[in-house]
Amino acid sequence: MADTRIPIAVLGATGAVGQTFIRLLDGHPWFRVAEVAASERSAGKRYAEAANWLEGSVPAAAAALTVLPCDVTRVGSPLVFSALDAAVAGEIEPAFARAGRFVLSNAKNFRMDADVPLVIPEVNAGHLDLIDVQRSARGWTGAIVTNANCAATVATVALAPLHEAFGVRTVFAATMQAVSGAGYPGVPSLDILGNVIPYIGDEEPKIEREMQKMLGRFNGASVESAPFVVSAHANRVPVENGHTVVMSVGFEKQPSPEEAIAAMREWRGAPDVRGLPSAPDVPLHYFTEPTHPQPRRDAMLGRGMTVSVGRMRADPILHVKFVAMGHNTIRGAAGGSILNAELLVARGMLARPGSA
Ligand code: NAP
Repeated sequence: MADTRIPIAVLGATGAVGQTFIRLLDGHPWFRVAEVAASERSAGKRYAEAANWLEGSVPAAAAALTVLPCDVTRVGSPLVFSALDAAVAGEIEPAFARAGRFVLSNAKNFRMDADVPLVIPEVNAGHLDLIDVQRSARGWTGAIVTNANCAATVATVALAPLHEAFGVRTVFAATMQAVSGAGYPGVPSLDILGNVIPYIGDEEPKIEREMQKMLGRFNGASVESAPFVVSAHANRVPVENGHTVVMSVGFEKQPSPEEAIAAMREWRGAPDVRGLPSAPDVPLHYFTEPTHPQPRRDAMLGRGMTVSVGRMRADPILHVKFVAMGHNTIRGAAGGSILNAELLVARGMLARPGSA
């Protein structure tokens, strides 16, 4: 029987996030990995040779593909997942959008552009309507849709129900970020084993600005960022996968810890996301055990798509404090992008599989 799934390309397919795309898309009901692309160093090689595969074995369908250069004249898929390094995403991603392709980007380059949606489906699905604004502003038929910095994603999913119920005003956030967040080969082992590195280049500004856009309101023409301020401290720790963010939060309307927990427990996010192939049963899970969430034990909750929270308590400086943790290359990158693409299909913004 003919495969009617939508053909997709992964740009930056050989890296840490690119490999996660290939793994998550293996057997996907709507999308078929038709093309893989990376730098000139990898182009021309079989994918299985070019990618230094990090987890399990390379899915057979992708293993045999020849890696293409990230050249819009060579990569033909209508839907493009980009796991490109920011140093090259700035030129390559718009070239694909200009050529009429849907680009789902993980890079930082366009996230804060006024006409570019920065989306976590459960949190701000409606921001996808910015695509119309983008198309008329840029005169292209494709689009760029971005997902956030991985630590900002974890923090935002945890804050979304609290912002809806109580209005976030002040956030103090300190992160403990996994080594896979630095890509491959990433941080040298002798720098990180048994150690904490109290600096991640350009990470704190991203955490301090992206949450307000995602928790902001789309007014039909632009996103009005949520009016709160964030102070972030970013640290790299010797954890393989899973970013932990400890937060103290102040609100417009002060909740008790019990009210904050109840808001988190009841929250299910945007209704049109439920039932999508990559959507977890619950986007947020509250642990009552005080020793959770832990990255090694809990990062794969909801197939890596559920953000875990715990240790909600009163904060002597702001109102409440708690810990949040989520899988950085799945919820914080490839899985988030795939869920964005599924939402585009569900909303009729991308042709349904088999409808061409
Ligand atoms: P990575 O492991 O370093 O992979 C980078 C990818 O970009 C590789 O496939 C590489 O191909 C490709 N590339 C590099 N230079 C290129 C060029 N000149 N032309 C075409 N392709 C080129 O990085 P990563 O961690 O997967 O991150 C990818 C993107 O996702 C980054 O923008 C990052 O900030 C973002 N992100 C990462 C995470 C995470 O948890 N890791 C989370 C959220 C967002 P070669 O193998 O051929 O060099």
